[in-house]
Amino acid sequence: MSTPVDPDPDVKEPASEPKPKRRGRKERLKDIEKLLEPYRVTDGKGFRLSDIDPRSTRGVKSKEEATRYLAEGVRRLAQDQDKLYAQDQWGVLLLFQAMDAAGKDGAIRHVMSGVNPQGCQVYSFKAPSSEEMDHDFLWRTSKSLPERGRIGIFNRSYYEEVLVVRVHDQILRSQKLPRKLISKRIWEQRYEDIAAFERYLARQGYLILKFFLHVSKKAQKERFLERLDRSDKNWKFSLADARERGYWGRYMKAYEDLIRATAAPHAPWYVVPADRKWFSRLVVAAAIYHGIEELDLKYPKVDEAKKRELQQARAALDGAGEKKKGKGKGKKKDKEPESGGADGA
Ligand code: ATP
Ligand code: MG
Repeated sequence: MSTPVDPDPDVKEPASEPKPKRRGRKERLKDIEKLLEPYRVTDGKGFRLSDIDPRSTRGVKSKEEATRYLAEGVRRLAQDQDKLYAQDQWGVLLLFQAMDAAGKDGAIRHVMSGVNPQGCQVYSFKAPSSEEMDHDFLWRTSKSLPERGRIGIFNRSYYEEVLVVRVHDQILRSQKLPRKLISKRIWEQRYEDIAAFERYLARQGYLILKFFLHVSKKAQKERFLERLDRSDKNWKFSLADARERGYWGRYMKAYEDLIRATAAPHAPWYVVPADRKWFSRLVVAAAIYHGIEELDLKYPKVDEAKKRELQQARAALDGAGEKKKGKGKGKKKDKEPESGGADGA
């Protein structure tokens, strides 16, 4: 996926005949890294939320431009997913956190629009059920981790345990934790446990990418008002969401603290400017594409035994019963796969 960042000054296109410049994989990844660089946090030390402007669009000038790049990103992601599925070793965990109306659902829908649904699972985590409350807080998310070869999306996650539960400490009190384990260090302890869990997953072959869609309080208000004004959006509005707005400062502090404590090279946070949805979707798509590309996935090599099996299959297809119908056909040599679909799932 090429991006508008860092145009090559040496290449001058003739005005009359604009030719799309083909960029190699390395150059493409470099471009994407430049786009992502201000938003990617791999070491939380010194991270400040106020350094990231929710309105930023980093040189992408218009929705149309972003949509073009997004379409290319979605197409490339579908190709990579096919390899991920075929290789069946890595699992990909994409985790989304945000205040209400930041655009989590839309980002997930748009970015994953090209991928094969069979290789992708989405889980939304709401207030825990009584069965979930009967277990440790990582239980419900652990059960929902994607299998190897698949992409798993968490719409909210175990991070709610250091967000909503921290902002409203009566929730903590309603959890079934033994009282003597609730100390002043509980949030730090949860950061440690989450970081350890993510390190474990990374060592088990999970690519973990975490997204905080960073919307401004002002943009949230506009979106809430739109939900009130438009009958097709009324269903999205809940009074509880408006109530949570009252705790904005505490949520932002909780986000900043958790990003500081849990950003790591093997589990980076992307703090995505989200006041313009077209930009946040582009950043999310670019980050996912970049993360999966870095795995340098390849289709599994066919060994000699498999080659013989394929030859036998060809011979059988070319054999007596099939020959009549397919006269003159079916003699082609092995072909490259035609499309990026993860068939055979
Ligand atoms: P949308 O509003 O777009 O449908 P949503 O993710 O906001 O999506 P809701 O049903 O509105 O879904 O909200 C889920 C609620 O569940 C959030 O307020 C969230 O803070 C809360 N929640 C999630 N995990 C926990 C948890 N572990 N403990 C308590 N509350 C939680
Ligand atoms: Mg909600």
